[in-house]
Amino acid sequence: MKLECDNCSHTFNVNQIKDIKQEPVKNDIVRHFIECPDCQHKFTTHYENDAIREITAEIRRLQKKAPLKIKQKNKLHKLRRKVRIMADTLKTVVEKDES
Ligand SMILES: [Zn+2]
Repeated sequence: MKLECDNCSHTFNVNQIKDIKQEPVKNDIVRHFIECPDCQHKFTTHYENDAIREITAEIRRLQKKAPLKIKQKNKLHKLRRKVRIMADTLKTVVEKDES
């Protein structure tokens, strides 16, 4: 995936950036981001808090149990959807706070 930096217009391939960095935002919220190779401008990939980390850990635990039973697959599906919604909500809250 190519991304154009809004700061310096440098175009770079996101897949070539191996280093996803983290920084605390506030409370239990952590921002994950990558940096433009040219100007170090930060691009947020996603935010995480304790609740999201807990569910992510549960998803990993379930994935390790593969092959999964139907019931476990359904649970995994629900958890993934839940974590996506939570991450979206968190992003909205954090970015509203910043502006
Ligand atoms: Zn840049």
